[in-house]
Amino acid sequence: MTAGDQAEGKGESKTEGQLLSEKLFVNKKNIWDSLGSEEEGVYRFAEDYKKFLDAGKTERECITAILEALNGAGFQDISDLRSADRRSADPGPLVPGDRVYQNNRDKSLVCAVIGKQPVSAGVNIIGAHVDSPRIDLKGNPLYEDTEFAFLDTHYYGGIKTYQWTTIPLALHGVVIREDGRKIEICVGEDDKDPIFTITDLLPHLAREQMQKKASEFVGGEDLNVLAGSRPFQDAKAKDKVKLNLLNILHEQYGMVEQDFAGAELELVPAFKSRDLGFDRSMIGGYGHDDRCCVYATLRAALDMAAAGSPPEKTIVAIFTDKEETGSAGNTGAQSRLFENFIAFLVSGTAGSFSEILLRQTLGASCMLSGDVNSAFDPNFDGVYDRKNSSFFGKGIGLSKHTGSGGKFNGSEANAEFCGRVQGIFNRNKVQWQYGDLGKVDKGGGGTIAKYVANLGLEVLDCGIPVLSMHSPFEVISKIDLYTTYQGYGAFFREG
Ligand code: MN
Ligand code: MN
Repeated sequence: MTAGDQAEGKGESKTEGQLLSEKLFVNKKNIWDSLGSEEEGVYRFAEDYKKFLDAGKTERECITAILEALNGAGFQDISDLRSADRRSADPGPLVPGDRVYQNNRDKSLVCAVIGKQPVSAGVNIIGAHVDSPRIDLKGNPLYEDTEFAFLDTHYYGGIKTYQWTTIPLALHGVVIREDGRKIEICVGEDDKDPIFTITDLLPHLAREQMQKKASEFVGGEDLNVLAGSRPFQDAKAKDKVKLNLLNILHEQYGMVEQDFAGAELELVPAFKSRDLGFDRSMIGGYGHDDRCCVYATLRAALDMAAAGSPPEKTIVAIFTDKEETGSAGNTGAQSRLFENFIAFLVSGTAGSFSEILLRQTLGASCMLSGDVNSAFDPNFDGVYDRKNSSFFGKGIGLSKHTGSGGKFNGSEANAEFCGRVQGIFNRNKVQWQYGDLGKVDKGGGGTIAKYVANLGLEVLDCGIPVLSMHSPFEVISKIDLYTTYQGYGAFFREG
């Protein structure tokens, strides 16, 4: 037995220095150590989350899953509220306890539960993004080479291209045919479906390839997806493998080659999320960034809707698209969708709309930007500052700022707001930890925080630590997922 064990194990009284250290030092415990009756809830939440993750591998599918949950919980589409009198944009009165959402093109969504206080007193918002890094098809993707059919692609978001070769890929998305019909495609998720892959060079012949930098040995234009090898039976036709494939697509979906041009077809890993580790403490899967924060936000919002009485302040959940490419476009966080929705809440609850009331509401509101953070990975400890990293098992991660270099282009939360959020978590016994993305000058990143902050709200980045971020197979801890769900709930109630 060591000296330390004797001091702690035999009930000897603690020294003044030991007591002082406990009081003054940052001392985040591993939450698994103090988990009591909540254990079952942690594992059950993880099971529900895995189903959500597997059902929504694209932004559209994720929004579909969210809509299903909201409709089941009595949320109303605001376009239905308006349809009674289409001459007016006035939705009619909203009262505390009302649940509403606005679906933006099936790719982003905002929802709210109306609180007891006037909306102009400010609303409590949590925002997360439904898009994840992936590989999109180009507008004219199909070609034949050496009697193989390939799909030419354009990667979406920040990926290490080499990670996406030699793995099973599924094709998801929508095609609008010439006759105007929208066709939904999902190939590779059912065990009986075919899958796709991007080939890589065998090591035996890779001597030159292996000398290249990792950023170069699989270039963006090298991500060509193997999609067929059997020719159409005809002695005279050209490009017979491609023809055969188009014929299959025509028979199954009624589409022709030009329909690819405007389609949204996305290749994602074809595997399902799984428990990871002998102890099942973690989840491995595609798209934790940022669907783990999306799910924690959704469940916290559903709890608010199911509560016996309306929330004190109105709560709003934002599920946004295009974060991985900079939040631009009409489904991204830089669009006016969110502002428009708040305007709708203002007019719906105040009975009339005024611009100044909208600006006042935004200025009085606060938001958690729910996005994943990079967990400390001991295999790559050189890029992390151990003192300022988030760790598995230590709870919800707060990041005061984003950006790179000298905090360029990031959003930094104000000390007052950080203090307020930390206080809410402390009061509610939600363990939180502080975590920057990595060492200064090693890289950097951004979230939706800065775009919403531009409207004058208080915003703090706050989410789940993840390993292997942006790879086809990311890893999170079940206890951090659950703790984040609890933290989001506390913020909705008390923010
Ligand atoms: Mn993210
Ligand atoms: Mn990301």
